[in-house]
Amino acid sequence: METKIFKIRQDDPYDKDIKEAADIIRSGGLVAFPTETVYGLGADATDASAAKKIYRAKGRPSDNPLIIHVSDPSEATRYAFTDELYFKLADAFMPGPLTVIMKKRDIIPDSVTGGLDTVAVRCPSHTIARELIKACDTAIAAPSANLSGSPSPTCGEHVISDLDGIIDCIIDGGECEIGLESTIVKIDEDKLVLLRPGAITADALRCVCETVEISSAVTQMLKENERPLSPGMK
Ligand code: AMP
Ligand code: MG
Repeated sequence: METKIFKIRQDDPYDKDIKEAADIIRSGGLVAFPTETVYGLGADATDASAAKKIYRAKGRPSDNPLIIHVSDPSEATRYAFTDELYFKLADAFMPGPLTVIMKKRDIIPDSVTGGLDTVAVRCPSHTIARELIKACDTAIAAPSANLSGSPSPTCGEHVISDLDGIIDCIIDGGECEIGLESTIVKIDEDKLVLLRPGAITADALRCVCETVEISSAVTQMLKENERPLSPGMK
């Protein structure tokens, strides 16, 4: 397929190309876009068949769940059962490089969560990402925009070299500021379980929530046949 490539400056995100990219996502297509962590490969998070296209394009195992991206922290309530601890985390760290796992609502299809009853939600701070999500008026499911097994892309050229000809559109917004994946935590009643280390440290999380457990997936190798809490950590 022919991939549309849009170059957009982060200080000028109100480009008409954002609207065109949003139309592609709304009609079930795939768009790669920049965030402050790494580039994401996005599809409508409420469309089961669009989400399946992400796995096909990346060659990603279907049990490796996707993070859904929202344009404002409060939007998470449309897709997940948010609670007081979520909003405390949102006040402290969002928009930004923190992903929070909560029980999912039915609007999120199983193909997005790899069959889990939880969903991972993030609100990126990157202006292009937020304007794109706003223009779509739906959450965007997006793993990193690389072929499975390659490093996560931190600039437009990396995405083009992996996915040109395979997806509908690539927004090239230059370099990602952080260049490292988001921190992932799971809310477990009144404690947090850290599933993937990232830009937001366990110590920073402890300023908001007294108990932050570090998952053994972070500190130890998996035993044979063990199913990881965070499947992408395999
Ligand atoms: P990527 O966007 O490629 O960094 O991958 C997202 C990662 O988030 C996955 O590989 C999982 O490790 C993690 N993840 C997403 N959703 C969940 C979930 N519901 N439960 C546990 N981990 C998740
Ligand atoms: Mg990845």
